[in-house]
Amino acid sequence: MSTLMVVYRGSKRLSQCDARCYDGNGRACSCCCGGANHGVGLKEAIRNTLLRSKAYAEFYAVEQGYEPWETRLVLPLSRTRMTALLGV
Ligand SMILES: [Zn+2]
Repeated sequence: MSTLMVVYRGSKRLSQCDARCYDGNGRACSCCCGGANHGVGLKEAIRNTLLRSKAYAEFYAVEQGYEPWETRLVLPLSRTRMTALLGV
């Protein structure tokens, strides 16, 4: 199970987007992708993450009542690894 993005505030992990989201079905989750990756599968979720993870994380921070600068986005897979997983 690949974790695509994690949002921290200090050392506290606020939210992460992983297979529970991108392989999820049913009700949309409320993880740090804002639902963009929900149920779309790994490849589409990687594309979204490569293109828009910073915007998702900032939106998530504000939604949680924080300033974007109070939080930190971590992409556990390198961009190189994500691109390789896309097979492009
Ligand atoms: Zn997600």
